[in-house]
Amino acid sequence: MALTGLDIYKLLPKTNCGECKSPTCLAFAMRVAQKQASIDQCPHVSAESKEKLGAASAPPIQLVTIGAGDFKIAIGNETVLFRHEETFHHPAGIAVTVSDKLSEAEIGARADKIVHLIFERVGMKIAVDMACIMNDSGDPAKFAAAVKIVAQKAPVALILASDNPDSLKAALEVCADRRPLLCGANASNYQAVAALAKEKNCPVVARAKGLEALTDLTQKITAAGVKEIVLESGAEGVRQTLEDLTKARRYALRKSFRPLGYPMLTCMMGDGDSFLPVLKAAAYIAKYAGIVVTDAIEPWQLMPLLTVRQNIYTDPRKPLQVEPGVHKIGEPGSKAPLLITTNFSLTYYTVEGEVEGSKVASNILVVDTEGTSVLTAWAAEKFTTDQIAAAMNKYEVEAVASHKKVIIPGLIAVESGKLQEESGWEVIVGPKEASGIPSYLKANWGG
Ligand code: SF4
Repeated sequence: MALTGLDIYKLLPKTNCGECKSPTCLAFAMRVAQKQASIDQCPHVSAESKEKLGAASAPPIQLVTIGAGDFKIAIGNETVLFRHEETFHHPAGIAVTVSDKLSEAEIGARADKIVHLIFERVGMKIAVDMACIMNDSGDPAKFAAAVKIVAQKAPVALILASDNPDSLKAALEVCADRRPLLCGANASNYQAVAALAKEKNCPVVARAKGLEALTDLTQKITAAGVKEIVLESGAEGVRQTLEDLTKARRYALRKSFRPLGYPMLTCMMGDGDSFLPVLKAAAYIAKYAGIVVTDAIEPWQLMPLLTVRQNIYTDPRKPLQVEPGVHKIGEPGSKAPLLITTNFSLTYYTVEGEVEGSKVASNILVVDTEGTSVLTAWAAEKFTTDQIAAAMNKYEVEAVASHKKVIIPGLIAVESGKLQEESGWEVIVGPKEASGIPSYLKANWGG
């Protein structure tokens, strides 16, 4: 019988320390009972209590770690169906395929390309984090050779894709220390694949057509001693795939159905349309793939996919923010312009991009507006004279701008008089839109 929140509460330390991100132990117990949190999020719960909690303490979706050391990703352990209920915790892995039918040089070139699929967006690095080596040749020796090249060249987590246990065994000889994901075990090979996984302590993909067959297979694999499992339902078409992804997540979270309580893998190949896999992968990342495998490899294909993942796996309660303070663009001297903006990432990076585009070295004072944009912050009284003047003092702007002139966004021109009075600086009203910054800076500060 499922434990109630009060049953769980009795086994908690009752110190209300808040480290589990719930305000009290009781609130945390309620969230565990509703499968919205895992007991592991309380660092102080005793092993004895954990044991007593039994199934109630297990995460509704198993945490699966693929890789080792620096080449590691963790997926699963999600506790909510909808991002706005809390947040999604472990970003889906994005894997690019490498076929063992390619020549050694081609495999090396593809691995190199995967490594360079790294981009910077709103101040964060976003990158492809997995390579999926495909045993298209069916030959264990060729497969192992391809895996070796990719493992040496690409510092990413590895997926070994083969139904042939001999191929998986040969590949593990050259990369077991990287703790790859074995993809995969099916109804006919699961005993051999599970034995390999157990011996080498690797996670396994369970592959079966449909959720019913998957339920049967995961029970057999867990009975064989493998705990870290990823599901692949083999669904065809976007509709069926989304249905399987959603049903499995619902069963795991709402019904505590253990055989489907694992992250899921989906596979998208080009189908002759080079943008199609990207569109499919984006849909699956939104609901609820733990790994997407694609043969897309061009930066213009992966950048949008990584952007989707970044957006979905941010905390919806916390807007992306940059560090408040003075940010230098180029090498500004003491006569360089000083612009002011908010710490909402999209606002800041738009301003920063336009300032860079102007080629006028500048300082930007970023005011902490709790991640809100200029007009929103101003309307909420987080970007008015008091906050701006306080930030000018706190970050000692006189040390970077000897001219004692500050440029505020045109949208808050109404603050200029009061700010001038309060700060004693000359307040210049800048452009209303960031796109006006380059021409403004060139015309007024370019000399
Ligand atoms: S971390 Fe543990 S002890 Fe602290 S409030 Fe949460 S449940 Fe209570």
